[in-house]
Amino acid sequence: MSLDVAAIREQFPILKREIDGKPLIYLDNAATTQKPQCVIDALVEYYTQYNSNVHRGAHRLADEATRKFEGARDIIKDFINAPKREEVIWTSGTTEGINMIANGLAKLLTASDEVIVTGMEHHANIVTWQQACKAAGATLHTVPVTDKGELDLEVYSSLLNENTKLVAFPHVSNSLGTVNPIKWMTEQAKRVDAWVLVDGAQGIAHGNVDVQDIGCDFYAFSGHKIYGPMGVGVLWGRADLLAQWPVWQTGGEMIATVTLQDATWNVLPYRLEAGTPNVGDAIALGEAIRWFDALDHADVAAHEQALMTRATELAKDFEGLRMIGEAEDKVGAFSFVLDEGHPADIGFLLDRQGIAIRTGDHCAQPLMARFNVPGTARMSFSIYNTLDEVEQFFAALKKVRMMLA
Ligand code: PMP
Repeated sequence: MSLDVAAIREQFPILKREIDGKPLIYLDNAATTQKPQCVIDALVEYYTQYNSNVHRGAHRLADEATRKFEGARDIIKDFINAPKREEVIWTSGTTEGINMIANGLAKLLTASDEVIVTGMEHHANIVTWQQACKAAGATLHTVPVTDKGELDLEVYSSLLNENTKLVAFPHVSNSLGTVNPIKWMTEQAKRVDAWVLVDGAQGIAHGNVDVQDIGCDFYAFSGHKIYGPMGVGVLWGRADLLAQWPVWQTGGEMIATVTLQDATWNVLPYRLEAGTPNVGDAIALGEAIRWFDALDHADVAAHEQALMTRATELAKDFEGLRMIGEAEDKVGAFSFVLDEGHPADIGFLLDRQGIAIRTGDHCAQPLMARFNVPGTARMSFSIYNTLDEVEQFFAALKKVRMMLA
């Protein structure tokens, strides 16, 4: 079977939009994905039918909201194959999930400890660890990126030692589309007993994420990159670690008892969820994942691969185009520069033709420096993109090139 892309597109109202009279071609999915009608409906239903605070309410609406909110947690648990539901912590997104762990780590690190990240991080997965290491006087190492845009795994292995406390790396690079061998990298880190955090912002919608199979300790992702709303995400972590992790935000929900002088903490997941949670968005994210999970994963992967393969073929024949990132295993993001024209001009001129891409440093300045570019033009695919859109993209890019020449 192949993915019924036409039927999928029908479910995304925004894809019917026109930009200056031209059909929208949305190729900015690594920044955020569009939302199917069922996700929009779930949000509207929440706010029109049972908007309420969760857990403590003594009324019908609070019961309904609590049931759906906790039900969404179960949907996430099953989707990523987490062993326990209390390991699924609601966050505002990947950034908050990583900060939660880095903030706690800063209190656990000593000056002799080492942390390893890679040269292809989004700023959310490097600045956080820089800060944690600085606070503790610990050392931060980075794994170099090869010319093809893959991690130098020999250097990675050689950096691991008994002082390595934590290793953090992206499942998929948001700039290059590189899919990293996260299971293998985790196995290596476990040989020296290091904790492993996977930045799943770009991996969650493209891979079959099974946290038990990966063997990592933490996996963070954002709801808006997998057809859910903005402002909600998930930090999954091993229960034995999360139950001990230094709390970072304090307040309501996360406490067990409070006196005027002291407090004790609630059990998981609540001890890491201070304050009123983002109930409606969490429920809608549950709906997004239910919707996405009902698709055939092999069909999804095959379709995304077909888009990437066609884009690569057309790019190779495109005069003056330099691909940034040519990893063997690549999904979602496709970055390039043209020998004529700044990426920002390329983005502007494509927008005039109804095509939405992203240009700039993609929150990965060290990676841009590595490739000696100020930024790239990046198109990024989702399941609703078509091969025809890829063809149209390169036809439009030809016009851009003529305009810039
Ligand atoms: N890591 C990666 C790889 C990303 O692509 C992003 C979002 N572009 C983030 C982290 C941060 O995600 P958010 O802004 O949703 O917290």
